[in-house]
Amino acid sequence: MIYHAFLIKYAEIAIKGKNRYLFEDALVKQMNIALSAVEGDFSVVKEQGRIYVFCPEEYDYEDTVAALKRVFGIVYICPVVIYEDQGFDQMAKDVVSYMQACHPGYAGTFKVYTRRAKKSYPIPSMEVSAKLGGSILDAFPEARVDVHEPALTLSVEIREKIYVYSQAIKGPGGMPVGTNGKAMLLLSGGIDSPVAGYMIAKRGVKIEAVYFHAPPYTSERAKQKVVDLAKLVAKYSGPIRLHVVNFTDIQLYIYDQCPHDELTIIMRRYMMRIAEHFAKKDNCLGLITGESIGQVASQTLQSLAATNEVCTLPVYRPVIGFDKQEIVERAWEIGTYDTSVLPYEDCCTIFVAKHPVTKPNLKVISRSEEKLSEKIQELMDEALRTTEVIEIR
Ligand code: ATP
Ligand code: MG
Repeated sequence: MIYHAFLIKYAEIAIKGKNRYLFEDALVKQMNIALSAVEGDFSVVKEQGRIYVFCPEEYDYEDTVAALKRVFGIVYICPVVIYEDQGFDQMAKDVVSYMQACHPGYAGTFKVYTRRAKKSYPIPSMEVSAKLGGSILDAFPEARVDVHEPALTLSVEIREKIYVYSQAIKGPGGMPVGTNGKAMLLLSGGIDSPVAGYMIAKRGVKIEAVYFHAPPYTSERAKQKVVDLAKLVAKYSGPIRLHVVNFTDIQLYIYDQCPHDELTIIMRRYMMRIAEHFAKKDNCLGLITGESIGQVASQTLQSLAATNEVCTLPVYRPVIGFDKQEIVERAWEIGTYDTSVLPYEDCCTIFVAKHPVTKPNLKVISRSEEKLSEKIQELMDEALRTTEVIEIR
């Protein structure tokens, strides 16, 4: 079957009143970005409270559906066949041939639902539905009409042309990226942070990212892995500006000056400070991490409190209550898992202590950080100055 268009259904709740325009315009924009990766000239059109994707004569159906399934805000994707309006008798024939192509030998319950967008059409909707139902029954003797709980709803929209559809492919839901501000994701090479970025982007938030690397302790391949993860998240979130911060000198300095069991916490506090610097510079309204309570020593409630203390922006931790297995499942679903488990080193694991504190005391940590006062500002400035920005598409 050749589908000429897709009707896009989106959540109605989010789009009352004036917000509707913002929501729809952002959705159209994100759909265009997603479709630009698919070969062919698609046109995304917003008309009379509906959004359609009109397809070129030749296109890859699977690729197109896959691209649309990654656009947040889409609840259902309905493939549509479009027929010329050549009078009612021809419409009935077309609807029957649609059924023969899409549901050959159909023997279940169905109803026809007609919507007259073109009000000048001479036959009322109910009558169109009843007559088309009759034609279908003639051609499919084992099918039955059930207007209350049909297994199949055949929708017919009468516009300048006749639009017919009966399938609804599930979209990702959520809200279009761009409708809820921007936030800065701390993206490591692990499993959790790409999932965290996905989840916040799904709420309509545009994402930027920051990655801390520590050459030569972490390799170019470890950095490439993070770039690859950012690309995978960008398939959903749209373009991401990835800040790659050279963290080596700061880490070495902390290692020299501070007690080793506090290294991870102090390092993470500096990560948050740097991430917040870039966040504020780029008008981000929050930070995002992949932290989950109790997962490791640096994610006990005490550790999270110590890390959080240096931030003035809200920190969003969407996987905070998830078990590792639940995060792994999400990573599988969104396609980041295989890349996340590639075995490259991370800057946190290299300088990690054998017995890190699990209940850091804020006063103690602050006192340890005082030992950094001589050079830390200079090192921070240097890290900010040498940060590389990569535009991920
Ligand atoms: P993940 O699987 O997301 O890497 P993790 O289980 O390895 O998380 P941690 O290493 O404690 O846990 O990191 C907690 C969070 O801190 C990460 O989810 C990420 O948001 C941030 N983070 C850790 N290391 C880095 C890094 N090198 N660059 C940027 N962010 C980082
Ligand atoms: Mg990690």
